[in-house]
Amino acid sequence: MDFDFPDDIDEGLEQMLSGEPPHDRWMRLALDEARAAAAEDEVPVGAVVVAAGRIIASAHNQREQLADPTAHAEMIALTQAAAQLGSWRLEGCTLYVTLEPCPMCAGAILQARVPTVVWGAADPKAGAVVSLYRLFEDARLNHRVEHVGGVLAEQCGGILTEFFRGKRA
Ligand SMILES: [Zn+2]
Repeated sequence: MDFDFPDDIDEGLEQMLSGEPPHDRWMRLALDEARAAAAEDEVPVGAVVVAAGRIIASAHNQREQLADPTAHAEMIALTQAAAQLGSWRLEGCTLYVTLEPCPMCAGAILQARVPTVVWGAADPKAGAVVSLYRLFEDARLNHRVEHVGGVLAEQCGGILTEFFRGKRA
């Protein structure tokens, strides 16, 4: 199917008609952020936050530039989203991130009460969603996060592999 959608068409409907899996298009934007990180010689991880069908935050890892161990893509995106909404409570938001969140970011996601996280590549060395810990499903915590993993995993992981290969060369 190939035709121009009118500008005011509902985004969900547009997605449905275009046949693209619903999470892919937002993950593509997170991937753009990851590429921006690579261009800045930062470990390429990108994140966006979507609320009511639009982007309210878009960020990439900036640990080197900011000399800040907390400057992961998700942390920056959460701060931006909270500023946009004027609330620390990110109800109704979905966070898209190219790499499985680490314990720090998973903790911040829980603190922000984000209902849904969609992530790309698994992180066997630091992942806190399925790889090392399952923080989003831990019944001892007071919030649960729905999560979908492996979205555009190949592209999301590939950009990291490429980055580290370049570093070693
Ligand atoms: Zn993190």
